[in-house]
Order: sequence, then C-alpha cells, then structure tokens
Amino acid sequence: MTDIKKHIPNRKCIGCRCSKPKGQLIRIVKYNGNVFVDKTGKSDGRGAYFCGSAVCLKTAIKSRRLEKAFRMQIPAEIYNTLEELSSNMEVQ
Ligand SMILES: [Zn+2]
Repeated sequence: MTDIKKHIPNRKCIGCRCSKPKGQLIRIVKYNGNVFVDKTGKSDGRGAYFCGSAVCLKTAIKSRRLEKAFRMQIPAEIYNTLEELSSNMEVQ
C-alpha cells in the first residue's frame, strides 16, 4: 500500500540536470541514426531533454552533452533550433 507509483516520470535537463515533468522539457530524439528536435514529444527513439534555459544550452554545447548522450556528432541546426526555442521561452 505504501509503494504508489502514479506520478509522471521526470526527465533531466542536459544542462542543469534538474528533473522536470516530461511535458515541460524540450525533447531531442535520436532515431535511425538521425537526431532531431521532437516538438510533438511522441517520436520514437532515444530521447534527451532540455529545459529551455539559454544557460543550459551553453552548458550542453560546451560539455558536449548531446554528443555524449547520443554518441554521435550533433548537427549545428539542432543547436540552432534549440536556441530558437530557448529564446522563445524566455520571452514568455
Ligand atoms: Zn536546464
């Protein structure tokens, strides 16, 4: 009776490593050797998560967090997309 696991699984940001509900994070997915930003949150594949902070994006780029998570080169356009998304989030 004590082990109730009904909560939404949290995911960790690639920058600050803070845990947040999946729906509040931007998802980056690797699928069939391609990496893309999953705006629907429903794509198949292995995911990494980003909280939307510009600081976290810098940390992730500097520490090559996505490269490490996916074990491959990350195209510049992925970072461009994340940058766009993070600046959009800051305006709100
Ligand atoms: Zn973060």
